Amino acid sequence: MKNKFIALGLLVLITLSCNEQKPAQPSQELPYQKEVDSILALMTLEEKIGQLNLPSSGDITTGQAKSSDIASKIAAGKVGGLFNIKTAAKIKEVQRIAVEESRLKIPLLFGMDVIHGYQSTFPIPLGLAASWDMDLIQQTARVAAQEASADGINWTFSPMVDISRDPRWGRISEGSGEDPFLGGKIAAAMVRGYQGDDLSANNTLLACVKHFALYGASEAGRDYNTVDMSRVRMYNDYLPPYKAAIDAGVASVMASFNEVDGIPATANKWLLTDVLREQWGFNGFVVSDYTGINEMVAHGIGNLQQVSARALNAGLDMDMVGEGFLTTLKKSLEEGLVSETTIDTAVKRILTAKYQLGLFDDPYKYCDTTRTKNEVFTKENRDFARKVSAESMVLLKNEGLLPLKKSGSIALIGPLANTPHNMAGTWSVATQQEKSISVLEGLKEVAGEAVTINYAKGSNVAYDEAYEKRITMFGKEITRDGRTDAQLLAEALAVAKKSDVVVAAIGETAERSGESSSITNLQIPKAQQDLLDALLATGKPVVVVLFTGRPLAITKIQEEAPAIINAWFPGSEAGLAIADVLFGAVNPSGKLTATFPRNVGQVPLFYAHKNTGRPLDPAKTADCGFQKFTSNYLDVCNTPLYPFGFGLSYTTFSYSDITLDKAELGPNDSITVSVKVKNTGNFDGKEVVQLYVRDVVRSTTPPVRELKGFKKIFLKKDEEQIVQFKLQTEDLKFYDTDLNFIAEPGEFQVFVGGDSTTELQNRFELVN
Ligand code: BGC
Repeated sequence: MKNKFIALGLLVLITLSCNEQKPAQPSQELPYQKEVDSILALMTLEEKIGQLNLPSSGDITTGQAKSSDIASKIAAGKVGGLFNIKTAAKIKEVQRIAVEESRLKIPLLFGMDVIHGYQSTFPIPLGLAASWDMDLIQQTARVAAQEASADGINWTFSPMVDISRDPRWGRISEGSGEDPFLGGKIAAAMVRGYQGDDLSANNTLLACVKHFALYGASEAGRDYNTVDMSRVRMYNDYLPPYKAAIDAGVASVMASFNEVDGIPATANKWLLTDVLREQWGFNGFVVSDYTGINEMVAHGIGNLQQVSARALNAGLDMDMVGEGFLTTLKKSLEEGLVSETTIDTAVKRILTAKYQLGLFDDPYKYCDTTRTKNEVFTKENRDFARKVSAESMVLLKNEGLLPLKKSGSIALIGPLANTPHNMAGTWSVATQQEKSISVLEGLKEVAGEAVTINYAKGSNVAYDEAYEKRITMFGKEITRDGRTDAQLLAEALAVAKKSDVVVAAIGETAERSGESSSITNLQIPKAQQDLLDALLATGKPVVVVLFTGRPLAITKIQEEAPAIINAWFPGSEAGLAIADVLFGAVNPSGKLTATFPRNVGQVPLFYAHKNTGRPLDPAKTADCGFQKFTSNYLDVCNTPLYPFGFGLSYTTFSYSDITLDKAELGPNDSITVSVKVKNTGNFDGKEVVQLYVRDVVRSTTPPVRELKGFKKIFLKKDEEQIVQFKLQTEDLKFYDTDLNFIAEPGEFQVFVGGDSTTELQNRFELVN
């Protein structure tokens, strides 16, 4: 065992890029400073405040922009940008008002929630993350930027990088899951994809990392709820993905709705200035979330004038929707609550972004309708979306049933089987809902003539009609079937009985996860569970195609169904991608990036937990035993249903021979971890090889293990490969109790395997 500290009376700290809490660097000078200053000098106070205003487009329809409510505000210089508006033609009309009718002709930003694709829609972000393929993820953002910029948009409110360890929170679907290391890699990939290397190109967008910060840790998983956590946890577990986006050069940041240390993020100077700008060197602009400023009145920290002034003084530059800035900042300036210099600073940041996009040179550069025709929802992009969707799927169980043969008959049953409108999932505002490929359509197309597909709905989404309405809104309706539950079931059973195999398309509807979609029961709706029970009781083999935007507690399904494929919400090409996986054209390789619990009471449940002073004996943990006076439950085991990193394949992989190139690692050094991975099954396949590290003893309690590397490899049947990871001393750093970012000498364990429970390990010593 290592003897790291205290015992020798020595605490040796390797502080390689020491103390990232102190100002890293003064915020650099803004680009385009001369140009920005010269416009600023011409602006009235009202025009300056107008630049900080971001209304939603409201009811503008093409051809009527001029007479819309917003048009007069734009002409009066009271708008800096608009969002929720699309089509190049409409945006051109609105931009024309800004650059021809407003006094200073300052162009507008046009923002939109382009979250997982534009019209060609990719899997929801939690599904994308499950691909563990950074090039692929970057490319999805690139395609999204290409399409959105061809339709007038120049700013996306993405990536959403909120770490969440609570599947009750519906917005876990919009992020990358529970892990800060993986979350950081994905954040950077998405920023690179959206922004490219040249923001002034006509096919790149300003990205906006959100929701800064800690939004995914809301109490009880209830959306918009209070967050309260230690700084040590913030810095180690929740802030890294935002920082990774900043390091990748993200142009804007969105403040979150929640409070941080008792102050709403929107007015939190520590967060928006000390951390973001001074410690991390961010020099873009910060936008509030939707009415985030106004909501601080309900938070209880002042009236609209006071909270608007607090937000500006904290470092918030742009006010989304609420017009708190527009209506109160002038008065606050007169009363000395804000200074003109602070207003100027915010205005400069907005103008700088407009210069970076090249809007002053050509305000219509994103409004080329030929591009819209040629570059949006193209065959090429849709084919790519199909490929990505298949890569995101996670095989949770397979007792030899999959892949299916392309012969005989398949009963396709379930309320999610024939609903194109639900395939894209949450936050797909530009998707072509009715053109998305349903499971029924996709199966038919891919299976071809040789397979008979017998379809039945089987049940409504839920027994309770009012609940069903809540989870099928925003055009994602599934027409409620007027037949009785018994009639629906009878039809399904008849269809199952005359078929060789059953594919049950069940789970969540698109709007059962996402914003304002928190739940306290993590099972699938009872109507669908009853349907599945009845299908299993027929004795026919049943493949569950599970739709979900979050980890679900599907313990009963895991026990009883012979095969489960988690499809998430796969996007516009859903049905085709599902069929590709079911018939084996694609061997599934997705791995979970958020732990699936056995029941909701285990939440929050995540792999990188602390050990506690009374850990359950590992042997007991493994076989679900109970031990009095240790940290466990009377009624459920400590282990999850499916751990982080888990996902099966149609083939199998073996891991062996984990070796290190040295036993000791010095400061500024690196160590190479090698492992042999072999495809031991009957199919070619991809595997996500994962590397975890445990810091055995340190001055603040370490997590039991943490992801520090991963590689997605392809191995043909019987092929083997030595996979190598380079670990640097830098990778072993953590934030200690004084928030110094350090690596402490001593023993480290390294684990490599196909999920976070792997026990294949080796060890090394960090020396100074
Ligand atoms: C969400 C943001 C989104 C914004 C604009 C808010 O309700 O929290 O994620 O970007 O709306 O649509």
